[in-house]
Amino acid sequence: MEFFVEVQNIIVTGKSGAGKQPRIDVLIEKFGFIQVSTGNIFRHFLSLYKSLGTGLNLENIWDSDNNNFIDDEKIAALLDPFCREKSTDVNEAILGAKATRFVDAGLFVPDEITNALFKAEFIKNGAKGMILDGYPRTREQSNYLLELCTEMGTAINFIMLVDNEDDAIVKRTTGRRICRQCGKVFHVEFKPPREGQFCTACGDTVIQRSDDTEEKIRTRLKEFQVKTLGAIEVLTSKNIPVVNVPGNLPVFTDEAVRESVISRISQFI
Ligand SMILES: [Zn+2]
Repeated sequence: MEFFVEVQNIIVTGKSGAGKQPRIDVLIEKFGFIQVSTGNIFRHFLSLYKSLGTGLNLENIWDSDNNNFIDDEKIAALLDPFCREKSTDVNEAILGAKATRFVDAGLFVPDEITNALFKAEFIKNGAKGMILDGYPRTREQSNYLLELCTEMGTAINFIMLVDNEDDAIVKRTTGRRICRQCGKVFHVEFKPPREGQFCTACGDTVIQRSDDTEEKIRTRLKEFQVKTLGAIEVLTSKNIPVVNVPGNLPVFTDEAVRESVISRISQFI
């Protein structure tokens, strides 16, 4: 008799610039899952709130005495007229307003808010069939995710950790150039633009993203050590297995990436 465990959700993690996306693409193809990334979730809620055009001063939904938001019912009352006009779900609008309050002020978004946005997206997708990308990123987020899975009767089957050396990431990322017109990605050494500065697709000039300086990359790499490893530790302590997948391959082809991922996750499928 064969036992078949249905894979419900997968976490993909790794240092910023480790090469997660090509590996995520393999999982999407293999399982037919959807990619749920924190960046996209935030963009969704921020643009949803913005589209309401409330013109509200969001400090009005913040109670500085309690260092917390005012009651959801009160926020709902403020947003309701705009939600009716745009046929927008008021609960989503509340989440959007809360996230916007931190992001627009350039403040660090607390785990509680990130968790709430994630939960809304997780439930919307039926709590399974997802590749989680960029979440959980702290110990608190991991604990929250585990509770949420229990509550929803679902699971995280394994964590795919895309492994890469800091120096390799720095080399790859600082050499990255992007076409300012069409977004095509180049590398000064591995995939050089024409004459060192022009896009081979559209001919426009390539630029270096402001996030791709060595200082910013090193900061992101440090955050991985300080926070994300802790988040992974919480999950492994609950016996969720980690599969290491190499972020650097001797030969980088679609087939080599697919083979390096599938051979390592075959124990789960
Ligand atoms: Zn171009």
